[in-house]
Amino acid sequence: MFYYDAHCHLQDRRLKPFLPEIVDAISRSNIKLISVCGSEEKDWQDVAELSKKYNWIVPSFGVHPWYVKDISNHWFDNLLKYLDEYNCGVGEIGLDTWIKGYDIELQEAVFVRQLKIAAERNIPASIHCVKAWDRLVKILKTNPLPWCGFLIHSYGGLKNYIKPLYELGAYFSFPGYYANEKKVEQRESFKEIPIERLLIETDAPDQLPPDFLNKHPLFDENRKRPLNHPLNLIPIYEFTAQLLGLHKLHEIVEENFLRLFSDVIGGRSE
Ligand SMILES: [Zn+2]
Repeated sequence: MFYYDAHCHLQDRRLKPFLPEIVDAISRSNIKLISVCGSEEKDWQDVAELSKKYNWIVPSFGVHPWYVKDISNHWFDNLLKYLDEYNCGVGEIGLDTWIKGYDIELQEAVFVRQLKIAAERNIPASIHCVKAWDRLVKILKTNPLPWCGFLIHSYGGLKNYIKPLYELGAYFSFPGYYANEKKVEQRESFKEIPIERLLIETDAPDQLPPDFLNKHPLFDENRKRPLNHPLNLIPIYEFTAQLLGLHKLHEIVEENFLRLFSDVIGGRSE
């Protein structure tokens, strides 16, 4: 029985002090593959290095909507270099009108450019969307998409967006954060997701699960804030299996993960 994390940020600087122990724990666990997404130009090299070192990392490179204001003049050429050099996806990319001072025009421009390159190379895109669902569906309907599919990570949209996104090729991943009591709507949405598009994620070190699922407590070295440990993937699977009544969740997620990432896994799954 193996576990697959569809979305994680192992390169995050908050995890750095604990990385040797985390990596060791992952290597000894039944976690088979982890999709590790870059978020901004300055973390791409860390993602690349990690993927060279550990063959259970499937890297992706992209500019997250929170960081579009920080891009350099040559960001796109820089991105192409990573896409040329690594067997990888594009991500984390997307739209977010929840953060303060967002620039939706800039977000859209950066997102569409990255989406197009994922389509051109037919590699999976890892998409973040918060409070921008109509815009996202419109962009996905009017632009070329990777035929291998794309991931909406931590799907938090309403039920009515599931069908159009599904028809466009979306996979949907469930984070441990949605086990929090107040996330009723998100949990209900996941009950409607066709099982052949279901994935599980930690989004570590973010999206901390509630205490009963946080089996691997970890705290930020400087600010002492709780962090989500990548090994929480295992209790998140247990929670999701129970929520959705899926005894064969492992097999379903394995099949889905390997299908979505098939072209960028290379020899990693052996
Ligand atoms: Zn993320």
